[in-house]
Amino acid sequence: MHEFKFKNKRLFCEDVRIEDLVKKINTPLYVYSYNTLVGHLLKIKNAFKQLNPLICYSVKANSNLSILKVLIDKGSGLDIVSGGELFRALKAGCPAEKIVYASVGKTDSEIELAIKKKILFFNVESLPELANINRIARKLKKKVNVALRINPDVEPKTHHFITTGKLTNKFGIDFDNAEKIINLGSVFSNILIKGIHIHIGSQIAQSKPFVEAIKKVLKFIKRINSRNSEIEYLNIGGGLGIIYDNETPQTAADYAKKIVPLLKGSGLKIIMEPGRFIAGNSGIMITKVLYVKKTPLKNFVIVDAGMNDLIRPALYGAYHKIEQVHKIAKGRMKADIVGPICESGDFLAKERMMPKVKEGDLLAVMSAGAYGFSMASNYNSRLRPAEVLVKKNKYRLIRKRDKYEDLIRQEIIC
Ligand SMILES: *Cc1c(COP(=O)(O)O)cnc(C)c1O
Repeated sequence: MHEFKFKNKRLFCEDVRIEDLVKKINTPLYVYSYNTLVGHLLKIKNAFKQLNPLICYSVKANSNLSILKVLIDKGSGLDIVSGGELFRALKAGCPAEKIVYASVGKTDSEIELAIKKKILFFNVESLPELANINRIARKLKKKVNVALRINPDVEPKTHHFITTGKLTNKFGIDFDNAEKIINLGSVFSNILIKGIHIHIGSQIAQSKPFVEAIKKVLKFIKRINSRNSEIEYLNIGGGLGIIYDNETPQTAADYAKKIVPLLKGSGLKIIMEPGRFIAGNSGIMITKVLYVKKTPLKNFVIVDAGMNDLIRPALYGAYHKIEQVHKIAKGRMKADIVGPICESGDFLAKERMMPKVKEGDLLAVMSAGAYGFSMASNYNSRLRPAEVLVKKNKYRLIRKRDKYEDLIRQEIIC
């Protein structure tokens, strides 16, 4: 469900014609739909109404300040993974008591800043990290709330690069060590272990691995709470899959139907951290065909966006549907859709059956709202794209395209 639709063969975002945006702002261009973005936050909120969870949108999926502000204004908290994301979260106006902070590699200065800003929780990923947070909290004379991130060792059946809840992954703490840490209790005088956190991976289509992981941690919480701990919060992470092609991922309602009965009556306050589910289908990337190149073996459609603008195909072999913005082509062809970057891994699609396009045609790379711009780089000294947010028949530029000067801003000629 999203608000990118064709009217008379022309692609619109809500009530704004994509070609009109391109005339003003050019390509490559990320376009986001306000209603789709907010709609997906509300889908989760409504599906889980009985639990009244704190939804902390995962900033890394799409960290544009305007995107964050839209979600914050609708009551969302934020899940962050770095000091930079904390800076963004606060700039966008997120109340500190709605910020949770995960990462296996938090530095002293990041920890100190987060303590001073009084975030809700650190999601702690190891014993040495916990000891370090305790040391810094003591120095600042503060008591700090943490949740232990448990690695529940479940198989989420997703791309192995985006699996995070198996014991071979670097994330979280296994049950035995978590219990040992909790039993150390008072050793960490400036820390209150108030929550348990899990996040088992991304683009997970089925509820089974979530159910398995949640059952495991609930059992764990019950056991430790019957002794000496006071776990009040359970953060069940993000990871909900979306439709890129013809997948049939669980809907928010399907997911809730499986999860809510497990958690209702647990007495725990629930936190969720959806990223892709909220942002993924809310954005597309528009690119222009530069050349159509025929070689003895293949057709290449060379476009003005590359792996620096959208790395998911190159990094994960990810599939994105690609549509012609004005559906005028007669006939179809098979082609690789590639960018201008000097890497053979620089492609948006491989061996794709697509409309017979020509120079100057516009293409829309669909479902690019999550892990799109947020993973963009300046590789090949390319200018990162502009971003636009559309609401009904209005649009706002929410990030200017990079300029050449931006490329060298921090550099020093010796
Ligand atoms: C990336 C991440 C998320 C969001 O994952 P999605 O698959 O985008 O929902 C949530 N929690 C943590 C800790 C993460 O690292």
